[in-house]
Amino acid sequence: MFRSINFNAGPAALPQEVILKAQEELFDYHGTGMSIMEMSHRSKEFHAVHVHAQSMLREIMDIPDTHEVLFMQGGASHQFAMVPMNFLHPGQTAHYILTGTWAEKALQEAASLGSVDVLASTKETGYRSVPAELSKKPLHSAYTHITSNNTIYGTQWQSFPEVEDRLIADMSSDIMSRKIDVSKFSLIYAGAQKNLGPSGVTVVIADKDFLGTAQREQPKILQYKTFSDSNSLYNTPPTFSIYMLALVLEWTLERGGIHAIEKANNEKAQLLYHEIDSSEGFYEGHAEKGSRSQMNVTFRLPSEDLTAEFLKGAAAEGMVGLPGHRSVGGCRASIYNAVPITHCEALAEYMEKFRKKN
Ligand SMILES: *Cc1c(COP(=O)(O)O)cnc(C)c1O
Repeated sequence: MFRSINFNAGPAALPQEVILKAQEELFDYHGTGMSIMEMSHRSKEFHAVHVHAQSMLREIMDIPDTHEVLFMQGGASHQFAMVPMNFLHPGQTAHYILTGTWAEKALQEAASLGSVDVLASTKETGYRSVPAELSKKPLHSAYTHITSNNTIYGTQWQSFPEVEDRLIADMSSDIMSRKIDVSKFSLIYAGAQKNLGPSGVTVVIADKDFLGTAQREQPKILQYKTFSDSNSLYNTPPTFSIYMLALVLEWTLERGGIHAIEKANNEKAQLLYHEIDSSEGFYEGHAEKGSRSQMNVTFRLPSEDLTAEFLKGAAAEGMVGLPGHRSVGGCRASIYNAVPITHCEALAEYMEKFRKKN
């Protein structure tokens, strides 16, 4: 059977072991005579999966008891609206740091609901970096929102900004890729389809006290409280996605948890950045060195023709997902947790071979 060398940006590669385990359990889940998709979300079998997923995520990310783990739907885009609906109170301003397209989208949703201000932006320089420092100090701020990893531009916060208000982060494309201090964040959200599993489930990690400050006039289904009061079982959750998430979390623990994952991610990214840096300008990275992402490596070749030829040759070697986002062009290799180092080695070798030939 054939598995491609998958550099897709999202939905993205899942660990091969996870796919095989899901296949093995699909027809008859633990002797129930049905797949996990075909049983009640209130069954004891699914309940065990649900709470195990929450506890494994707590263990891997070292989530303190002050914070809750919620499983929601609607993706990160839904959170763009949920966050201001719940936490942008009248008379307050929400602060956004613009580091890419996703941050812009989050800002747009908030702007349609209340008062917003841009605390810092790197748009003028083509989103090649994250801001070095924040100039304005937020006043009457509801929260400050950041995007921890900019999937499209290939930049990432190396350390998080110190803000005086509540910090909220869209971590869709780098959650669980490195050790972070969860207690610094009032709320973290991530669509699962980059680092955690398939699309369908959105993970929210939130400070319980902060959740208590939410506005209450929203429809029930748009309140975080509804999810926290019901342990994310208010209505039918995306059961299969949560099951897949649990398998990815098991796989993560088997590999040695966050430290092993972070070390592997460093090595993987290093292989590709080394190839860019030693190419004497043949490959030009989009991100400034101090803001480089360990998850999405973005680069350009000297011409459109060479880019097309590069991508064609890569495809012939079984590598998929390398064309850059339409707004940036060039190439992008997304090397999330599930992408094995052998795939990055294959790409680095191919990059070197292609450069020498041209
Ligand atoms: C992919 C991505 C999104 C969009 O996620 P959806 O789940 O499709 O809404 C938002 N933010 C970031 C950083 C992403 O990488």
